[in-house]
Amino acid sequence: MKSNGNWGETPWKVAFRAKAGTLPEEVDVAIVGGGFTGLAAAAMVKRLARERSVLLLEAERVGNGASGRTGGLVLGETAAGDLPGLGDVLQGYPRILEELGVTADLRLPGVWELARGTTSMDGKPVHAITGSPIEWSDSGKLEAVGTVPGGSVDPGKVVTGLARAAEKAGARIAERSRVAKIEFREPVRLYVERTRAGGRERRVIKAKQVLIATNAGSLELSAALFGGRQPAEPKLTFALATAPFSQNEIAELGLGSGRAFYTVDLPYLWGRLLENGGIVWGSGLVPGWGESARRGTRGEVERRRLWSGLEALDTRKGQAAERLRTLEERVRGLHPGLKKMRVTHRWGGPILITRELWPVFRKHPESEKVIVSGGYSGHGVALSVYLGERAARVMAGLATGNWELRR
Ligand SMILES: Cc1cc2nc3c(=O)[nH]c(=O)nc-3n(C[C@H](O)[C@H](O)[C@H](O)COP(=O)(O)OP(=O)(O)OC[C@H]3O[C@@H](n4cnc5c(N)ncnc54)[C@H](O)[C@@H]3O)c2cc1C
Repeated sequence: MKSNGNWGETPWKVAFRAKAGTLPEEVDVAIVGGGFTGLAAAAMVKRLARERSVLLLEAERVGNGASGRTGGLVLGETAAGDLPGLGDVLQGYPRILEELGVTADLRLPGVWELARGTTSMDGKPVHAITGSPIEWSDSGKLEAVGTVPGGSVDPGKVVTGLARAAEKAGARIAERSRVAKIEFREPVRLYVERTRAGGRERRVIKAKQVLIATNAGSLELSAALFGGRQPAEPKLTFALATAPFSQNEIAELGLGSGRAFYTVDLPYLWGRLLENGGIVWGSGLVPGWGESARRGTRGEVERRRLWSGLEALDTRKGQAAERLRTLEERVRGLHPGLKKMRVTHRWGGPILITRELWPVFRKHPESEKVIVSGGYSGHGVALSVYLGERAARVMAGLATGNWELRR
């Protein structure tokens, strides 16, 4: 996935640049993708098996994908709820961050669930709680219907902290190093294209074990895992951040508890407070489809839907800009206290929503030595780090029993 000025600016920053250096020819563990999953796995493999050589290959800069652009709501379980063999994500997340020395403004006061109707999108009955502090106008009266465990974190600090922890533990991080192809032999061969000041360098790296953690990018590396009859479709999703509100203004909006929130019915809306009193709001999806037109045999114009990649979408233009405009108008209309809010940041980021919202965490169909982790369906802040650690345990030879998440 390419670095993208097209996707706008976030209020959080990633303060990490990998050291340049030559790429090795062989490694014990290669990790593809420098988001939360890949970075947590890299740091953890070195912590669990210091003697193994670890190389993380990131197509652009670490945090260039969803992890640097996420909303940072920390949620338990998965987008599909609890799954067999998953364990306790919300218990594992703070523990892993602490073990790796990552401090990132993690707060866990719970998260509001909001709704306007009496049925959630997965068909469960919901009812506004008595004295809901939130009363917003959004296709009906939007109120709190309950809380779930969780909270929020600064995603820029998490990416930065995990990358530093990985490098400090002895993992190599190579940015601007895209894996173009994988050959599933023993050892596995990774075809890497690295962009440097002097031009492009191509190299084949042999790895005994591999983790593919590219999320919405490079789905072809994961073969049929994101394919099938209803393939997971990468999309761009959107968010904006506001200038700070005063404590009183925040209390009037109903957010005095400091809890983040998301709707359990549609239209979808989520949000959270920033440390400075600003608020982040998010919603909307645009797939990376384009169209091609060509003349058919009888001279008629045929249009075809073509996968053109999310990089082509620009939050300043077209459908993506429209989604951001709609989001902003919607938020201004929620409550009188938001009418004059000042928007400081507008951005989009990639998301991979899978069928029935199950994440993928399993062996690659073509190799026992390759793990694929991803498709968290907008629910990956805590889960990515948690499964990154589990992947590290497997690659360090410490996982016992069935570690895959499977139906
Ligand atoms: C706007 C937005 C808001 C969100 N809000 C929330 C939220 O509030 N709570 C929540 O739980 N989840 C949320 N999510 C989802 C969450 O951020 C993701 O699930 C999580 O960050 C995924 O982490 P990852 O490491 O798997 O993927 P990513 O962070 O996307 O990392 C994948 C990396 O792989 C790299 N890559 C791709 N192809 C290649 C290749 N061929 N070679 C090398 N590198 C490659 C990319 O450049 C990228 O850096 C949100 C996502 C977005 C976009």
